[in-house]
Amino acid sequence: MSSTAPVPVKPSDFIRDIINDDLEAKRHQKVITRFPPEPNGFLHIGHAKSICLNFGLANEYRETLPNSGTRCHLRFDDTDPVKEDTLFEEGIQADVRWLGFEWDGFYHASDYFEKMYEYGEHLIKSGKAYVCSLTDAEIKEYRGDVKTPGKHSPYRERSVEENLDLFSRMRKGEFKDGEHVLRAKIDMANANMKMRDPMLYRIRHTKHHMTGDKWCIYPMYDYAHPISDAIEGITHSICTLEFENNRELYDWVIDNLIEYAKFPSRPHQYEFARLNLNYTVMSKRRLLELVEGKHVRGWDDPRLPTIAGMRRRGITPESIRNFCASVGIAKANSTVDMNQLDFFIRDDLNQKAPRVMAVMKPLKVVIENYPEGKTEELEASYWPHDVPKEGTRKVPFTRELYIEQDDFMLEPSKDYFRLAPGKEVRLRYAYLITCTDVVKDASGNVTEIRARYDEEVKVGENPVGRKVKGTIHWVSASDNVDAEVRLYERLLIDEAPPTGKDSEFLDAINPNALQVLTGCKLERSLGECKPGDRFQFERQGYFIADEKDSKPGALVFNRIVTLKDSWAKAQKK
Ligand code: ATP
Ligand code: MG
Repeated sequence: MSSTAPVPVKPSDFIRDIINDDLEAKRHQKVITRFPPEPNGFLHIGHAKSICLNFGLANEYRETLPNSGTRCHLRFDDTDPVKEDTLFEEGIQADVRWLGFEWDGFYHASDYFEKMYEYGEHLIKSGKAYVCSLTDAEIKEYRGDVKTPGKHSPYRERSVEENLDLFSRMRKGEFKDGEHVLRAKIDMANANMKMRDPMLYRIRHTKHHMTGDKWCIYPMYDYAHPISDAIEGITHSICTLEFENNRELYDWVIDNLIEYAKFPSRPHQYEFARLNLNYTVMSKRRLLELVEGKHVRGWDDPRLPTIAGMRRRGITPESIRNFCASVGIAKANSTVDMNQLDFFIRDDLNQKAPRVMAVMKPLKVVIENYPEGKTEELEASYWPHDVPKEGTRKVPFTRELYIEQDDFMLEPSKDYFRLAPGKEVRLRYAYLITCTDVVKDASGNVTEIRARYDEEVKVGENPVGRKVKGTIHWVSASDNVDAEVRLYERLLIDEAPPTGKDSEFLDAINPNALQVLTGCKLERSLGECKPGDRFQFERQGYFIADEKDSKPGALVFNRIVTLKDSWAKAQKK
């Protein structure tokens, strides 16, 4: 586990090396990147890595190249009207902004549909594209496979006139879905399957969320993406490794259009390793399955690695950015340990979250020698000594208190330093108490602890010659606030879930990934907290008042992260 993973001060990686070379050789005078999500789902932490890289590059190079026009665009890659939606666009924009980035240009691939059509005609006229009337299944069959070269489509030699006529009639809506496609005329025997006369356009009589009914033919990703990049003057088009084979086609499209189209730049595609995390799933398809199958409570369920889920969980954008920086940009795929993310969450919240006391599973303690009806307002610091912040609040101390069930043991082992019959413990910010007796219910469960406090020892004092090893947290039983607390663990029990296409991964869902506790007792000061406020509940972890469900008088808290990595330990057992 990389719990000491450093945040690189000045990032350096192969992409930055390439950019530096390009600038030095004067191939470019500015850096223009883009983040090109398809609006067909919500973003996840993998996308965050791409966002941090693309927007981060623009931010960095803007500093070294002021007034150069260095920038990063947000572009929706909206070429598939079947799966895409405005709702997803809104969610994605909110996520990018929440992560701390702002785009310098906002576009849609559909902004360029008219240009793309015109370029399609140009390719036809230059003998580089043709209308093919094979069925989808036939096209697949004709393509061959890695070992077998493909066969030429019988429509490959159609005349330019016929192709132009068919292409324009495709646009006009004269044909049904699947009747014709526009294909690039490249090489059916190419070792790279992507180059075997790839499809450029297909017919889809589907309303598009941006262009409505204007189009019934839609460009394919491999055609639309390089053109969009080139029109926007993108200099470095960064994507993940699975697009490595698409690069040749990307270059083919640009090379065959650049002279005609007079693009403002000649973009190049560079691939980096996608972010993978253990104990979770990241593909949109699987996330969709979890949401639609009601395995989680929605796209923003705090168990999910979606940006919306992590935000609801209480994870800060700073920790996600620091985490992404620590992972770095590599050329080989690997899986990152969730503990590395947890490290950055704790690292950030340690400085930001005031410390308070909360009892998750309450057990009543009655201090027999403390006067009934008396309340002492004890001063408690919000911050530990090593956080350079100040601030205190008063916590009421009363005769009846709650402590954590786990902080009491009827028959303690030798190394148990918390409360037990006859044993003494320190109450945080308060007195020393000794357990004198217990009250049990009919089935022998301890329901109440009787105790005495040491009247001689003042709050915060260390009695000479008496070692009290344990300090536990507590909450007044008569002056507190009630809350529901949601404890989260890893989404999956398997480090690496089955990768098959089917829903097998659903079997790996951790049934304890969400545990809801009700009747938790929080110290009085939390009665005033607002949704979105974060705290450290001493000895338990970092928590946030849920943005949606927490209301004054009916508080709901999410556990963001535990204080230590108890997960790894629990797994070993
Ligand atoms: P997924 O494959 O996870 O379902 P996607 O690739 O279909 O997502 P897009 O909307 O096409 O999602 O992605 C937008 C950008 O984010 C692309 O440039 C893509 O390469 C990048 N991206 C997607 N997943 C990851 C990841 N796990 N790590 C880094 N970048 C990613
Ligand atoms: Mg993908």
